[in-house]
Amino acid sequence: MINIKKSTPPPACLENEKEKASGNYRCGDVLERTRKDFLNKCYICELGFPTTVNVEHFVPHKGDKNLKFDWNNLFWSCGHCNNTKIDRYENILNCTNPEHDVMNWIEYELKPFPTTTIEVHAIPDQKNNPLVQNTVRLLKDVYNGTTTLKKLEAENLRTLLLNECTDFQEQLERYYNCEHEEDKALLYRIITKHLSKDSPFTAFKRWVIKQNPVFLRDFGNSFD
Ligand SMILES: [Zn+2]
Repeated sequence: MINIKKSTPPPACLENEKEKASGNYRCGDVLERTRKDFLNKCYICELGFPTTVNVEHFVPHKGDKNLKFDWNNLFWSCGHCNNTKIDRYENILNCTNPEHDVMNWIEYELKPFPTTTIEVHAIPDQKNNPLVQNTVRLLKDVYNGTTTLKKLEAENLRTLLLNECTDFQEQLERYYNCEHEEDKALLYRIITKHLSKDSPFTAFKRWVIKQNPVFLRDFGNSFD
C-alpha cells in the first residue's frame, strides 16, 4: 500500500446524483478520474492494471447518501481485494490521508523460497495502532486468501508479485555489477521507475531498498 492523492474538486455530477432517489455514484468522469488518481492500481494489493475493478466505498455507506456520493470515499480496488474487504475490515489505514504513512508503518516482504510467502507486519512503534493492526489483517488475507476460491486468486496474485520483485532484484544485481557508465545510467532509470508510485507492488520494492544501507544510499532519495 502506498499513499495516493485524490484530485480536486470532486466531479460535479456527484452532488446532482445524490439528490436523486436512485442516483449513480459512477456518474460522469468518476470512473476515469478514480482510475487516474489511484495510478491504475488496486489501492490494497497494489496490483497494476487490474482487469476486474470495483469503485469501492472506503467506509461502507450502508445506505448513507453522504458516504455513498462522497468523492473522498471512492477508492479503486481489484475484485479480489474488494470481495475480501467487503464489510469485514472497517477502520483500516486510509492511503489518501497524508497522516497515515501506509508504506512505512507496515513492513512488506516477499519470501520466494521454498514457496512464495508474503510477510506483512506492523513496524515496532505502530504495533498498538488499531488502524495498522486491521490493515495488516486485511493485507494478510488478501495475499493468502480467505476461501477456497480466494486462495487460488491469492496464489495468482503472489505469482505476479514474485515476477515483479524478481525482475526488480535482477535489475539491482545488474546495476551493482555494471561497469559501463551509460548502461549503469539506464539501469538506474529502470530501478527508479520500479520504485515510483505508479509501478506495481511499490511498497514491497521500497522495503527491499529500505533494508539495505547501500541500496538506501543510492536509491532512497528516488521515492516520489
Ligand atoms: Zn487488489
